[in-house]
Amino acid sequence: MPETRKPLVVAIDGPAAAGKGTLAKRLADHLGLPYLDTGLLYRAIGKLAQVAGLDLDDPQAATAVAERLAPADLGRPDLRGREAGELASRVAIHPGVRAALVAFQRDFAAGPAGAVLDGRDIGTVICPDADVKLYVTASAEVRARRRTDELLAKGRDVAFEAILDEVRARDARDSGRTEAPLRPADDAVVIDTSALTPDEVFARALAVVMARRAG
Ligand code: C5P
Repeated sequence: MPETRKPLVVAIDGPAAAGKGTLAKRLADHLGLPYLDTGLLYRAIGKLAQVAGLDLDDPQAATAVAERLAPADLGRPDLRGREAGELASRVAIHPGVRAALVAFQRDFAAGPAGAVLDGRDIGTVICPDADVKLYVTASAEVRARRRTDELLAKGRDVAFEAILDEVRARDARDSGRTEAPLRPADDAVVIDTSALTPDEVFARALAVVMARRAG
């Protein structure tokens, strides 16, 4: 009889630029699970609202965009940068926007194999029963330094202090909002990546997953 594996849901949360995305993709590849970058949903809503000339701070306007979000919107080429991240964190404070995205994220996690999802509220709100919850973080300075180095390597003219201000502003907005604020779930394993290489982060996370699977 072929071995049938129970589905495995891995929830990865944490602040911007902590290394969640890199870790989540690598874990998903390694475990053969589908991966959802939930930040992309909020980025697409922020960008669509901006392009339509809407007020991002208007909950009704932003919610209407979220309710019409289509899978093709996630393929837009302009969602990856810093500006889209900023727009995302503005629309992400609206409860209606968040509510419009819950079913899509839960359906994704409910696939036959399970899934890896990364975001801010996966372990706390979207998948409170996830098999594994990781909270990936690093100091604001380390995250800003990594982001600055990435941008400099791409030939962009950026200053560390400006990036640090952006990182702190995004942390404050994501952690300070009333609806689904960024925080570790009570049963999350916290991985502080400040002094770790990506390989070390991956090894720690995989050890947590394997221990959970064995147990
Ligand atoms: O992870 P990423 O940087 O792409 O997320 C962009 C923004 O989207 C975050 O700063 C946050 O405000 C919002 N977000 C969220 N909940 C998620 C994923 C992202 O509020 N699950």
